[in-house]
Amino acid sequence: MKDTYVYRIGENLYVNLTNRCTNRCVFCVRNGKETYEGHALWLRGAEPTAEQVIGELGGADCREVVFCGFGEPTFRLTEMLAVCGYVHSAGKKTRLNTNGHGSAINGKDIAPLLSGALDGVNISLNAPTREEYEALCRPQIGGAFEATLGFARSCKQNGVNCWFSVVDVIGGEKIALCRALAEEVGIPLRVREYIP
Ligand code: SF4
Repeated sequence: MKDTYVYRIGENLYVNLTNRCTNRCVFCVRNGKETYEGHALWLRGAEPTAEQVIGELGGADCREVVFCGFGEPTFRLTEMLAVCGYVHSAGKKTRLNTNGHGSAINGKDIAPLLSGALDGVNISLNAPTREEYEALCRPQIGGAFEATLGFARSCKQNGVNCWFSVVDVIGGEKIALCRALAEEVGIPLRVREYIP
């Protein structure tokens, strides 16, 4: 079977650029799964080039193109930005779902590059404190929680339309603390339903 670079869910097209990730979240949709919503997102071959992704997007017949999949898309920053340019030239919107480690991964502040390229950036906050973040997301890099907060602050400063997200299973008390953190950064918090 061919590797899945682009897949459709509802009105959106999703781009699966990599399987690399700096977290090992206990709730990750990849855990123990071969597929997601029927799409085989583990890449057996090489990660896709921007040209391969663009070829599969075709005319980008969708509401928006979302960089998501079985990995952290900012590992493929150059390719993601190239695909964003194509999607915008097709008159469609772009969104990034990220763990917020992109600047740590790329060794530079990537927020200025995202401004204009992405119409929305969903940053998974997941937990209100470093200790809880590390227990839930099991980061493979040091300072991951602080990296996520720093990335969000820079996105805000660079005019990127961004928001934090948490899953509802963490409970009301922690959600309230995450909301306070989001307010401190100056961005909204969205609470998503947990997908087992
Ligand atoms: S950051 Fe996303 S892709 Fe990475 S382990 Fe967590 S849920 Fe999975």
